[in-house]
Amino acid sequence: MPHEPGATFHPETLAIMAGYDPASASGAAKPPVYLTSTFVYESAEQARAIHEAYFRGTGPMAGQPAYIYARLSHPNLAMLETRLAAIDGAQSAAVFASGMAAHSAIALTHLRPGDSVLHSRPIYGGTEALYNQMMPHFGVHAVPIGDGCDGDHIRAQAELALAQGPLALIVIETPANPTAALTDIALVVAIADEIGARIGRRPLVVCDNTFLAPFAQRPVELGVDLTMTSLTKYCGGHSDLLAGGVSGRAEVIAPLLQWRTMLGSHCDPFTCWLVLRSLESVAVRSERAMSNAALVAAFLRDHGKVAGVTFLGFLPEGTPQRMVYDRQCKGAGSTFSFHLHGGEAEAFRLLDGLRLVKQAVSLGGSETLACHSATTTHYNVPAEARAAGGITEGTIRLSVGIEHPDDLIADFAQALEHV
Ligand SMILES: *Cc1c(COP(=O)(O)O)cnc(C)c1O
Repeated sequence: MPHEPGATFHPETLAIMAGYDPASASGAAKPPVYLTSTFVYESAEQARAIHEAYFRGTGPMAGQPAYIYARLSHPNLAMLETRLAAIDGAQSAAVFASGMAAHSAIALTHLRPGDSVLHSRPIYGGTEALYNQMMPHFGVHAVPIGDGCDGDHIRAQAELALAQGPLALIVIETPANPTAALTDIALVVAIADEIGARIGRRPLVVCDNTFLAPFAQRPVELGVDLTMTSLTKYCGGHSDLLAGGVSGRAEVIAPLLQWRTMLGSHCDPFTCWLVLRSLESVAVRSERAMSNAALVAAFLRDHGKVAGVTFLGFLPEGTPQRMVYDRQCKGAGSTFSFHLHGGEAEAFRLLDGLRLVKQAVSLGGSETLACHSATTTHYNVPAEARAAGGITEGTIRLSVGIEHPDDLIADFAQALEHV
C-alpha cells in the first residue's frame, strides 16, 4: 500500500512532492528560484570537503547536497532531477538545456571512435542527423532498424552494425514521429542482452519517450538503461520552454553529468523551476489530451475528405504492432497524423481554414497545433524517403491539446468544408 510508512508513492503523487522540501527554504510551499552562478563556502576547510566530495565521492561531505558553481549543478536543477527520476522510476536523472542537448551528451558520453549505433527509423530529425551526419565525423557508424517489432530484422541489423565495430548503443524512439511506428522495447532489451553475452560488452539501450511521456509509457520498468525525454513537449506542456531529461541507473547517469559540465548544457534555474511545476500536472494534462485526441481522431477517420489516420488507438487487433502497443503503452498519446484525399493544395486549404487550431511545429502543449509534414517538419527529407515513411503531400500532423473537444471537432469540421 502506497500510504504505509516507508512505502513509495505512485508516480502521480511523486510528481507533486518529490525533490522539494519546504523546510529547506523558510517553509515556502513552493521552491524559490535560485538565481546565482556561484555558491559561498562556510570556510576553506568546507570548500575543500565539497570539492573532495564532488571529484572523489569521498570525505565528510560525500553524498550531501552542496553546490560549487551553477554549471556543475544548482538547487533548482537538483530538485528537477530528483523529481524526474522519481516519476520515471529510475535511480538518477540528468537534465539538460534541450532534448537535443540530452541526446548529444548521450552520444558523446557512451560512444568512442569505431563504435557502432543501432537506431529505430523513422526517428526525430535531430537524432537522425546526430547519428548519421555528425557522429560519423568521430568514426561512429549508424545502422537503422526499419521494423522495431520484428526480432529477426533487428538481429540482422545488429549483425550489420557489429560488422562495422562494437555495438555500443541502441537508440529507439517509440512511438515514432509522424507514422506512430512502434518498437518493442522489451524485445530490444533482450537482444541487447544476447549481444552482451556473446561479445562481452552489452550495448546500452536508450529509449526516447517524448511522444507518450512518463505516465503513458514506462521504459525503465521495461529494462532500458536510459529513458530520454524532451521536456519541451508534454512534460513542459505549455510551449514556453526547452529542456531535456535522461533517467537511469546512477552509474550510467554520472558520466553524462561530467560531459554536461564540459559542454555547459545544464538547464538554467528558471527553466528548471517551470518544468518542476509543469511535472505536477503532466498526468492530468496527458489524460485530457489523450481523450481529446481519441475523439478528434475518430471524427477525422469517419470524414469523407480524410483518407486515413495514423492514431495508435486504431491499430488493428491481432497485428504485431497492436500486441506491442497493448504490452508497453498505457495510452495512445495525443500526437498523430491524418492524410487528406488530394495533396498540398488541399492540405493548405484545410490548415488556412482553421480558426482555433494554430499552425506550428512542436507538440505536447496545452494548445492544439497542426502542420503540413512534407513542407515543414520533413521539408529536408527527400520525397522518396518521405513516401517510404508514409508521409504523403496530403499529410497533416496534429498535436491535440487540452481544449474542450467539441470546439476542436467543430474547428476541423468547418475547415474541412474549405478543402
Ligand atoms: C522535440 C523532440 C526532440 C528534441 O527535443 P528539443 O527539446 O527540441 O531539443 C527529441 N526527440 C523527440 C521525439 C522530439 O519530439
